[in-house]
Amino acid sequence: MKAKWVPAVIEELCTGCGLCVEACGPQCLELENRVATLPRPNDCGSEEHCIAGCPEDAIHMRWVPMDGNHEFGVWRESEGSEPHPPSTNKDFTPAKRHGVKIATPSRTNL
Ligand code: SF4
Ligand code: SF4
Repeated sequence: MKAKWVPAVIEELCTGCGLCVEACGPQCLELENRVATLPRPNDCGSEEHCIAGCPEDAIHMRWVPMDGNHEFGVWRESEGSEPHPPSTNKDFTPAKRHGVKIATPSRTNL
């Protein structure tokens, strides 16, 4: 399975301000219980505008194994097949929600 470069949200840092949701052109982010989530990962273009919009540094990009349109967004063959880009928080562990990830370092792995 391939992996896509998509945002993960650290729940403890997220204030639910919604600025990332507003910054996402394809509208693939939503607030759920005042925490940003990614319910539509297939629409994510992996261009990281949501990170620039977050005042709390609560969003980090991560390779997440998934299926989808490989011509949209940034993909690689599989998680672990290439080194993480320098901007990645390697200690971040996403949790599963809505079929994708969003989460906290203490939650479950995908
Ligand atoms: S990387 Fe871009 S398309 Fe994906 S969630 Fe962030 S702003 Fe939206
Ligand atoms: S911009 Fe940051 S703090 Fe605001 S809702 Fe999005 S992830 Fe949470």
